[in-house]
Amino acid sequence: MSSVLDTPPVALAAAPSAEPRPLTDGFHLVIDALKLNGIDTIYGLPGIPITDLTRLAQAEGMRVISFRHEQHAGNAAAAAGFLTGKPGICLTVSAPGFLNGLTALANATVNCFPMILVSGSSEREIVDLQQGDYEEMDQLNAAKPFCKAAFRILHAQDIGIGIARAIRSAVSGRPGGVYLDLPAKLFSQTMDAVAGRNSLVKVVDAAPRQLPAPDSVQRALEVIKGAKRPLILLGKGAAYARADAEIRALVENSGIPYLPMSMAKGLLPDTHPQSAGAARSYALAEADVVVLVGARLNWLLSHGKGKTWGADKGAKQFVQIDIAPTEIDSNVPIAAPLVGDIGSCVAALNAGIGAGWAKPPAAWVGAIAERRDKNLTKMAATLALDPAPMNFHSALAAIRDLVKQRPDAVIVNEGANTLDFARSIVDMYEPRKRLDCGTWGIMGIGMGFSVAAAVETGKPVIAIEGDSAFGFSGMEVETICRYNLPVCIVVFNNNGVYKGTDVNLSGGADPAPTVFVKGSRYDLMMEAFGGKGVVARTRQELARALDEAVASGRPTLINAIIDETAGTESGRITNLNPAKAAIK
Ligand code: ADP
Repeated sequence: MSSVLDTPPVALAAAPSAEPRPLTDGFHLVIDALKLNGIDTIYGLPGIPITDLTRLAQAEGMRVISFRHEQHAGNAAAAAGFLTGKPGICLTVSAPGFLNGLTALANATVNCFPMILVSGSSEREIVDLQQGDYEEMDQLNAAKPFCKAAFRILHAQDIGIGIARAIRSAVSGRPGGVYLDLPAKLFSQTMDAVAGRNSLVKVVDAAPRQLPAPDSVQRALEVIKGAKRPLILLGKGAAYARADAEIRALVENSGIPYLPMSMAKGLLPDTHPQSAGAARSYALAEADVVVLVGARLNWLLSHGKGKTWGADKGAKQFVQIDIAPTEIDSNVPIAAPLVGDIGSCVAALNAGIGAGWAKPPAAWVGAIAERRDKNLTKMAATLALDPAPMNFHSALAAIRDLVKQRPDAVIVNEGANTLDFARSIVDMYEPRKRLDCGTWGIMGIGMGFSVAAAVETGKPVIAIEGDSAFGFSGMEVETICRYNLPVCIVVFNNNGVYKGTDVNLSGGADPAPTVFVKGSRYDLMMEAFGGKGVVARTRQELARALDEAVASGRPTLINAIIDETAGTESGRITNLNPAKAAIK
């Protein structure tokens, strides 16, 4: 690909010329700065003032994936960040487009995924005097509370340094979302092409290793050595860190049972003999020392307190590995903080777990294995059932079988019951193959994450979607068809949110707030754009459709008809739903 710096600026508008013009412009400097830093894909939605940026980026060899709504482009950028370790780029127009992308930026920040939301904006002079510009908004200040860092570039010569700052901010330390504000006027600014090229910055060592202090490593080893019932808990930070071999060595050399959080599933295969996944409650309640590896003690882990953690069974000690020092003691006292990058911290622990390391007591390992095997036998019996209509278990059994055959497939998962059941039923075998609702437990990530997973990995993607969850991003099936991505969406159709049997408590004609059109044909949405739509009423039909979808690599939507009485209110987090108690 020839460099834009050798070609006329604003190439689309320029008349052909024999002589190269020694100028470049804001459009090209943005593209060249991204490319110089190895960023080759933009997720976005064109419009004023960034339409030409999308055209020129494509012309210059970048992949530009154009969405129907900015939130999904933003979610795609966030997932790309998690999957690649490079910041995913989301490009939007000003004001409303920016705000649509902001939800995804906030979600990326909360989940510690590196992404950069790049938005065009109106003229600063008019915005600051509030004189009423087209799509006027003070986007920089609006973005600040929702991201790790926010920058605005006003001059073409600052594009290189501005993009370098955005990249480093997104990926160094605790990764997160960065906002980059590019006013419309910036794009058409010109400058000398050679000076422009020299102004670009290739970021060196964007996410430097951060070694733990030797005394904190020693302290952690002492605490682990003193444990009678140790447990390792892997979070999505551990998956993001790409320290797969070190983490496996820590688990296997120490002999300590481990539990993965949902997006850490597959760091070691869920079938690993040391997995305590099917004995989760027992392991959390009974462990006396827990080694947290890239997992926060937030609501997903009951804040490290209470019955879940066996508060009635005596004190528990935590070793916590995290790159963010302020994460330590966030909810409970941490006996041994290990602050640094996970690769370096785990390597340091591994160095201390040499020959002569005493494996955990057999009674502890045996007690976990016994409960796990009992629960797995119970689960196997449930999964062997073949009810008509399908329920969550029987439909997920078909997906579980497929993933066993295709462990390289990426799973995207959202919903309430659809999420909760899939997390425990569908075993994962490889790292970073599971993307889900994450830290906020949100819905709406489905199609954005699916597009990014397909684009970034080239592997089959199975999106396991509650019918409610799918609705948030369903229009992006057109995007999936347009780019002919190997995405198979399975909509768990039980006619409503949680279940499809609610009635209007007033006796009025309107449907209850939680129910949808009965028998909705989600499959026809996919057909409308040239993909394949299938209705699956049985487990066998679902298994067949999944096989065909993965073999063909074609966009497919399987409308999986689930018993409308199946499912519980709010899945496994009914306790967080105050309205439920009030209605009862
Ligand atoms: P989960 O939801 O799976 O429990 P969280 O998102 O709560 O995981 O926690 C991820 C943690 O991992 C965050 O506190 C973040 O600071 C940390 N983290 C992310 N990347 C790294 C890394 N490379 N090294 C160390 N810690 C990291």
